[in-house]
Amino acid sequence: MRRFLGRRFLGPLTVALAAVVWLSLLAPLPAQTPANVAVGRLGAVASVDARASQIGIDVLKAGGNAIDAAVATSAALGVVEPFSTGIGGGGFMLIYLKDQDRVISIDGREQAPAAAKVEMFQDPDSPTAELLPFTPNRISSGLAVGVPGTLTEWQEALNRYGTLTLAEALQPAIGLAQTGFEVDATFASQVAQNQARFAAFRSTRALYLPGDQPPAVGSSFKNLELAKTYQLLAERGLNAFYRGELAQAIVQTVQNPPTVESPPFRVIPGKMTLADLDRYAARVRPAVETHYRGYRFYGMGLPSSGGITTGEVLKIVEGFDLAQLEPAAAWHRVIEAERLAFADRAAYLGDPEYVDVPLPGLQSDGFAQLRRTAIREPITADKTFRAPAGNPLPFQDDPSPSLTASPVSARLSDHEGRSTTHLTVSDRFGNVVSYTNTIESTGGSGIVVPGYGFILNNELTDFDPMRPHPNAPEPGKRPRSSMAPTLAFAPDGSLLAFGSPGGSTIITTVIGIAVNLIDFGLPLDQAIAAPRISQRNGGVTQVDSGLEQSELGQKLTALGQILEPVPEIGAATGLMIQPDGRILAVAESKRRGGGAAMVGQP
Ligand code: GLU
Repeated sequence: MRRFLGRRFLGPLTVALAAVVWLSLLAPLPAQTPANVAVGRLGAVASVDARASQIGIDVLKAGGNAIDAAVATSAALGVVEPFSTGIGGGGFMLIYLKDQDRVISIDGREQAPAAAKVEMFQDPDSPTAELLPFTPNRISSGLAVGVPGTLTEWQEALNRYGTLTLAEALQPAIGLAQTGFEVDATFASQVAQNQARFAAFRSTRALYLPGDQPPAVGSSFKNLELAKTYQLLAERGLNAFYRGELAQAIVQTVQNPPTVESPPFRVIPGKMTLADLDRYAARVRPAVETHYRGYRFYGMGLPSSGGITTGEVLKIVEGFDLAQLEPAAAWHRVIEAERLAFADRAAYLGDPEYVDVPLPGLQSDGFAQLRRTAIREPITADKTFRAPAGNPLPFQDDPSPSLTASPVSARLSDHEGRSTTHLTVSDRFGNVVSYTNTIESTGGSGIVVPGYGFILNNELTDFDPMRPHPNAPEPGKRPRSSMAPTLAFAPDGSLLAFGSPGGSTIITTVIGIAVNLIDFGLPLDQAIAAPRISQRNGGVTQVDSGLEQSELGQKLTALGQILEPVPEIGAATGLMIQPDGRILAVAESKRRGGGAAMVGQP
């Protein structure tokens, strides 16, 4: 790509010209017919949206690599999936660099402002210091907004491993936001489900509730403000966001949310300052490595619990020959392993820059073996049962106890949003990106930054606002996440990449896909389409609607599992590259309206 638009020739004044050249480069490429499964070669993109996937494919075809395509696709998702992701949020990116045979993870998680404290979500008007109701007061507040990390993550990824500049990677999304796109059922229903809180903010109402109604399915939607914001970033770079006019606008919005005259609920302002934005940095961290039946898994480490908790479950169930068991007996063990691993997650995991997490113990074979012995079949159906955390300390050299959640506070959290988006990209060189990004709730905080067309996240609701807790809010800390972008190297030399949105269900979705692939031998498309099962140390095990009535569901119930059908768990994407270079790229066929998988050469 530097061939055409070398970075050294690209000063701010040439960006407009670059945009024209860029768009004309893209113009002649025929669009692929959207489908949720694609087979071919020379790279692939799978995302929840055909327009975004097409942009990624166009970048690959114009010579860009997987990192370029992932950023361009993600920028486009910020336009067409603005209630799940965008520059007002954060995320975690796993990158496989083929020529170095190395996995890198980038943490672009939102960060708490310096004013954050454990009491931050207490009701300022409550004499007994009650917590504010989660919905709508905590989620739609300035309080919940963390310093966004997405842009820094894009920039870091491009600087280190991309061939495009950020300005170049943003151009296709600018075109999409300017020209507009057709409103689909998912977009319209996400506005409808948020209508009451979107209507509380002048800027959000003006953008997403034209005529005070959600945009009609089939109508054309433009986001000229977002196009202008992306253009500003293309011209001035990240300083515009973290130190310039956008920083001013973000701080103003957080401290003084743009509510309508009498909002239908109390909107509590936050305390983010310019210094908080100035201080933000993405972190490059080691990926979490787990071995499972000959596969080498790489996942996201802290502050995400994704890689560690999926790793713990896989290590526990590796001790059972799931493929030889009757399916209900196998899934019962997976469910029970999830229950135990979520107990450990709640007790020990938090931002590693703030808490000393007993990782060597938690990731040891001995601890997995001990947890395995806690699995019984059948169990007594009991909605009130919560598994206690295990003790990893005997399994590590450092015997000092870590800060641990009290059993009561460990039970608090399972409020995480069910929004977010995952995209998976590969290129002709064999590089792969597995990237989960979010603004937390569907619709984030619900607050559009006036004049700039993007929604601020409400990620700080992922903290557990009580002490003692490794995930308690603190100044500058990143809330524990569940995002689990995954890469896996199969014994036959194939490379798999997958991930999903869905808050804490992300972890169980990734486990379900892995078990279906490896233990039950399903191809990736079927492993993604299969009904989902999610136990998170709660009273019930959630399942995709319908599973509870199936033979498997009935047998699980007989084993003591209490199944709760829910409409939709996750919206995964993934890809598999075989040793001969053939790629299978997959998105959902139905969940979240279906996604779009495309390949460089079908
Ligand atoms: N806030 C969640 C997390 O970081 C993601 C939200 C979602 O997936 O909807 O784990």
